[in-house]
Amino acid sequence: MSWLGGDDEVDAFDEFDESRIRTRPNPKANRPRTKRRPAHEDAETGRVLGVDRGRYSVLLGEGTADERTVTAARARELRRTAIVTGDQARVVGDLSGGEGTLARIVGLAERTSLLRRSADDTDQVERVIVANADQMLIVVAAADPEPRTRLVDRYLVAALDAGMRPLLVVTKTDLADPAEFLAHFDGLDLTVFTSARGHMPLEQIGHALTGHATVFVGHSGVGKSTLVNALVPDAHRATGHVNEVTGRGRHTSSSTVSLRYRDADGSGWVIDTPGVRSFGLGHVDPSSILAAYTELAEIAEDCPRGCTHLPDAVDCALNEAAANGTLGNTGRARLESLQRLLTTFGV
Ligand code: GDP
Ligand code: ZN
Repeated sequence: MSWLGGDDEVDAFDEFDESRIRTRPNPKANRPRTKRRPAHEDAETGRVLGVDRGRYSVLLGEGTADERTVTAARARELRRTAIVTGDQARVVGDLSGGEGTLARIVGLAERTSLLRRSADDTDQVERVIVANADQMLIVVAAADPEPRTRLVDRYLVAALDAGMRPLLVVTKTDLADPAEFLAHFDGLDLTVFTSARGHMPLEQIGHALTGHATVFVGHSGVGKSTLVNALVPDAHRATGHVNEVTGRGRHTSSSTVSLRYRDADGSGWVIDTPGVRSFGLGHVDPSSILAAYTELAEIAEDCPRGCTHLPDAVDCALNEAAANGTLGNTGRARLESLQRLLTTFGV
């Protein structure tokens, strides 16, 4: 395992609030330029569960009899490094977790994934949201608010770009039939759950959560907090609020946190993100979207350099395969789905 820390990685930012962390656009952001050997031999590594006013909750001894949560501040040398929910942090100092104790974060393990957003598609300034998640669960309502395929497309692109498996939960199916909305996603490898008041598929969703770190995203009002509270009974996420900007710390759901899901089969992590209404996709690499469509990516190896793979792309091997029938109906549906996602962030 390698570690990153120090001033070499990210641009200046002025606050400890994760939503305000600004990193310099850097395609290799996941791979730090310098890898330092841990300077603190007595450090322990733990999962960052959340941050509140510059104080991090870090879970040590995860899954052992010695499991405890410590409160930690970041070491001075990490003041320019984004530390977010899901990070594996090296901590030193008082690691007892006792009341009033404060540990210190001195390094971060290299991340396996990083969910980012930029302010908009042309803005290259990124905000880091969640580290090390391997799934994204997108919550959308069948009605109230009306589902928007474009918003879901943007979530999907963000998930695929970050290397996360996307899952979709359609809530409020007691209010409307989601069939027409769901038809938009026919071409994609997407696990879909439907949920209605009093009929939440908690076991099925839970099964998909076990053994994974899953970031939950969704527009305000779709029933995400209701779902999180049902899956994680001690989560106490605030529900029923329409205006999500409530001020820091006043509502339990005003910051991103990791919550543990448990059932008879095991456990997993639910990472709840409030207020992420959409992702700017300025940083997305089109090839990461194509890579999610394995068989299409193979065909696209015959495309001209710089091919956009959009319907109007000349000599595109994918369009040719669609036209001459090699793709078949399923393949064509998948190509349409791919092209819709590529259009999402304006290739
Ligand atoms: P969040 O903003 O996405 O966290 O949404 P909430 O969990 O706060 O839910 C918003 C509103 O939708 C609340 O009044 C919930 O009771 C309601 N709600 C959640 N799930 C369902 C559902 O499946 N059916 C119906 N009819 N209402 C739901
Ligand atoms: Zn092409």
